[in-house]
Amino acid sequence: MAVELLIDESRIRERLGAMGRQIEDDYRDKPLTIVAVLTGSLIALADLVRQIRIPLRIALLQASSYRGATTAATTLVVNEAFAPDVVGRDVLLLDDILDTGQTLGALVEHLKDRGARSVRTAVLLRKIGRQIVPIEPDYCGFVIPDAFVVGYGLDYNDEYRHLPYVGVLGDS
Ligand code: 5GP
Ligand code: MG
Repeated sequence: MAVELLIDESRIRERLGAMGRQIEDDYRDKPLTIVAVLTGSLIALADLVRQIRIPLRIALLQASSYRGATTAATTLVVNEAFAPDVVGRDVLLLDDILDTGQTLGALVEHLKDRGARSVRTAVLLRKIGRQIVPIEPDYCGFVIPDAFVVGYGLDYNDEYRHLPYVGVLGDS
């Protein structure tokens, strides 16, 4: 399928640099752990942390959402094989994209339950017009229109993650 360029590599690099400066200012002298949601945020994680020049830890989280058979509600199941120790840590939860907000909303609560001292959120992308759960990301790379995007970690059927840019997946 064709992928139409939406955000190129250099804009992403520049934006992650600016987010890195902000994170340095906000977390100086704090026990920062960046918790990245697998798999979509891996590329953003690798590029973002290399732009942050204060001490930090990295942890990963995996979660899958299931739509109920009889209701529209989705349940998020967190894979306990990745159980980052966040007790007493100032957590920055990083995901690739904020869409309905269900994933981030549930994971913030999960990390607080696990003993994080504080939990804030960062997303590379925020899609407009689809949010259900009222959550404001503390750090946001780009606001994008309501289209299905791939690349820079984001997949379609587990493909396209390796593209160095973010693009819109077309049907031709
Ligand atoms: P939410 O819980 O906010 O609805 O969804 C967040 C998750 O949905 C993301 O972590 C991502 O896996 C997936 N998602 C939402 N929109 C898109 C999109 O446009 N492209 C891709 N590849 N994944 C998306
Ligand atoms: Mg995801």
